[in-house]
Amino acid sequence: MNDEVLHELGVLRELGYTHLDVGSAVARSRGHAAEAETEENGETGESGEAFEALRAEALGCTKCRLAGTRTQVVFGVGDPNADLMFIGEAPGRDEDLQGEPFVGRAGQLLTDIIKAMKLTREHVYIANVIKCRPPENRNPEPDELDSCRPFIQRQIELIRPRVIVTLGRFALQSLTGKSYSISSVRGQWLEHEGVKLMPTWHPAYLLRTPAAKKDVWADMKKVMGELGL
Ligand code: URA
Repeated sequence: MNDEVLHELGVLRELGYTHLDVGSAVARSRGHAAEAETEENGETGESGEAFEALRAEALGCTKCRLAGTRTQVVFGVGDPNADLMFIGEAPGRDEDLQGEPFVGRAGQLLTDIIKAMKLTREHVYIANVIKCRPPENRNPEPDELDSCRPFIQRQIELIRPRVIVTLGRFALQSLTGKSYSISSVRGQWLEHEGVKLMPTWHPAYLLRTPAAKKDVWADMKKVMGELGL
């Protein structure tokens, strides 16, 4: 067994797995092969073009002051036809440098959670409500959120995920425009524009509060149930 497989097994054990259902994993990978074929046949062509146009618009965006301090725009990563979308707050230092969301320490934890769901980052879509790093990771200003909101809204419209998972209070509140208390609604199904939404803790909070990992795993089990994983 190679090191990567051993690492993944360790992550799964830590998240509470006691056995692996290899049969369903094989069936799922066949399903993904069929989806890839459909995509090659051009059935997702138009929305693919719209998605690339949106990415190009975001990469050139100068609608707010964050354009002046960013290194890179962090648009999003993953499968633009994903059933599952994770939405965080804003890029941090690592993300700003690499141009990809959730690649720092919190990102590694999110990647581990995704692996524990028997998925990979390539099977889901990961984005933030704010596409450019706020200086020194300060909270985004209301006008910055307003300028950026159309990008995440359009990403959701084009991806049409079956489930959205918001990570932390900020992503939940700025996506929905409602002043939810994360500790009251975490783990409960909400709805956003006709899409099922599961609010959970932000991975950065889990780094500070490892005891809360079990809550996130309980929430992800609900998501897996909804997606038939
Ligand atoms: N935190 C976020 O909310 N998003 C990232 O991309 C990284 C850290």
